[in-house]
Amino acid sequence: MAILVTGGAGYIGSHTVVELLNQDHEVVIVDDFSNAHPTVLDRIKELSGKDFSFYELNLLDKEGLEKVFEENEIEAVIHFAGFKAVGESVEKPLKYYHNNITGTLVLLEVMKAFNVKKIVFSSSATVYGMDNKAPFTEDMPTSATNPYGQTKVFIEHILSDLVVSDEEWSVILLRYFNPIGAHESGRIGEDPNDVPNNLMPYITQVAVGKLEQLSIFGDDYETHDGTGVRDYIHVLDLAQGHLSALDYALKHSGVEAVNLGTGEGYSVLDVVHAFENANDVEIPYEIVDRRPGDIAVGYADATKAKELLGWEAVHSLEDMCRTSWNWQKNNPNGYEE
Ligand code: UDP
Repeated sequence: MAILVTGGAGYIGSHTVVELLNQDHEVVIVDDFSNAHPTVLDRIKELSGKDFSFYELNLLDKEGLEKVFEENEIEAVIHFAGFKAVGESVEKPLKYYHNNITGTLVLLEVMKAFNVKKIVFSSSATVYGMDNKAPFTEDMPTSATNPYGQTKVFIEHILSDLVVSDEEWSVILLRYFNPIGAHESGRIGEDPNDVPNNLMPYITQVAVGKLEQLSIFGDDYETHDGTGVRDYIHVLDLAQGHLSALDYALKHSGVEAVNLGTGEGYSVLDVVHAFENANDVEIPYEIVDRRPGDIAVGYADATKAKELLGWEAVHSLEDMCRTSWNWQKNNPNGYEE
């Protein structure tokens, strides 16, 4: 029996696949390389010493997806595939709604047809919206301020409705906080398509000399140093969280939303300084205006993950900074040789 991983060539997907293979799961990856590079597949094999099946496919291709289910005995799905750039989603909402939501609907229809009813979904802490106060707990109301976030909110609803309609479904909605860091080897890591939108890849590209300086979006928030506070989580912890969620989904039915965070908040300046100290490099920065849609403070209440899944994050901010830099300096152009 195999685990189907959609978006398995991406940043979080690739780290999760390595862990799945390390734990002797059979893996089938579906990815369209819209935000990933084929080289990652060789690196996954190199790190795990194991093989897997791969299909270059977008989830909107229903016939292609049916073939994947015909050719493999799929037991459960970990569903990472989706567009994730907030800014682009505001400019191209139809592209985001179609790819992320319709793609998921097609996946669910095919799963249903093949009687595969277990799914772990990549949701996001963005579903806590602008109105909740951290620490965020899973029972808080969800909302979003941009089409990317809306796709996460809608897909959570779609999956929850599915469980209401048929109690055999087992659904885990994993709400990721801010994943950073990379595999210890420096062979896989985050490789953004364009100029990075997120903090850590921006910092590492400044460190490697591809970008001149970091722009810090506001220093007048109500936080200890005025810059925004987030819950940064090591991608390897996140990957382990998927393994724990999968174990749970295989043994239970119903729907559970679960935060994957550390429960601890760090400011933008905390991260900049931690990066400088861990790696002995300087990160020049300037303070600019706030970025529209940003909240002041976001971090998880991580209790439920520990109680329900027996999982908690173990890596420090220093580990995250060290491994992010190790990846970037060994691969200045990402997977582009
Ligand atoms: N941030 C920043 N400069 C950047 C990118 C991000 O100051 O170039 C800040 C952002 O305002 C937020 C934090 O870093 O306070 C994390 O932002 P990111 O986009 O990585 O994740 P988000 O939590 O917004 O999804």
